[in-house]
Amino acid sequence: MAIKTNNSIATNVANISMYTGTLFIISAPSGAGKSSLIRAYLNQQPHQAKVSISHTTREPRPGETHGEHYYFVDHKHFESLIDKNAFVEYANVFDHYYGTSKAEIEQSLSQGINVFLDIDWQGARQVRKKMPQAKSIFILPPSLKELENRLIKRGQDNSAVIAKRMQKAQAEISHYNEYDYIIINDDFDASLNALNAIITAASLEQQKQAIINKQLLADLLSTQSN
Ligand code: GDP
Ligand code: ADP
Ligand code: 5GP
Repeated sequence: MAIKTNNSIATNVANISMYTGTLFIISAPSGAGKSSLIRAYLNQQPHQAKVSISHTTREPRPGETHGEHYYFVDHKHFESLIDKNAFVEYANVFDHYYGTSKAEIEQSLSQGINVFLDIDWQGARQVRKKMPQAKSIFILPPSLKELENRLIKRGQDNSAVIAKRMQKAQAEISHYNEYDYIIINDDFDASLNALNAIITAASLEQQKQAIINKQLLADLLSTQSN
């Protein structure tokens, strides 16, 4: 089955700096704990953030539902979306297409909702190019042995799939230096605190505060003295 390369994606840069929500790109070798960290964060802050639901051509795993974990589509449908320029990025991961739709993220950012992209390093590169204001976070496991233990413990992939993910882990990890932030997910609560700190810092950036507190700043700078 032929897989298209992503050269067909338009190179226009989306200006997300006018939005008060922040776009977070989160990558990790499979099993490092990225989905668990995102889930835990969303449980704490359900109204302030969401995960962008990707489209994929892979089969749903037991318990995964269309529209919640992914939009599960066939190869032909995915390629029609590529042709319609519907993706901000897409990539071939583990022999399947995965992609992030533009509409999905821009709507939330414009409403001040932070959006997490759980995407691999190839997708991260594409998004960074098009949306340089995005913050990128790389999650690392404390060791390769622990990474394998977590994939086994998760109990969702058979041993051949786990072996393939372990084989790809170091290639994924080698891209750590393309990211703004690194979290070593050893103690889960400490990692969750680190994630919170990054998100809080992003929300306090001057450019966002200037939009959120436009009226206050105008009042503080007005010449009228009380
Ligand atoms: P996990 O990594 O074991 O949680 O497995 P998943 O099936 O949830 O994700 C597999 C890989 O696909 C991960 O590396 C994700 O970061 C990546 N991925 C998921 N969605 C997207 C997407 O929309 N774009 C890109 N580029 N990568 C994605
Ligand atoms: P990813 O989304 O990066 O593939 P998951 O979030 O599915 O990873 O985590 C893989 C497994 O590791 C899950 O069973 C999860 O409960 C477990 N896990 C995640 N973080 C930790 C941690 N800090 N310590 C121990 N186990 C963890
Ligand atoms: P899984 O099949 O385990 O759900 O995902 C496999 C890999 O695909 C993960 O590394 C995940 O981050 C990545 N992935 C998931 N969705 C997307 C996406 O929309 N775009 C890209 N580029 N990668 C994705």
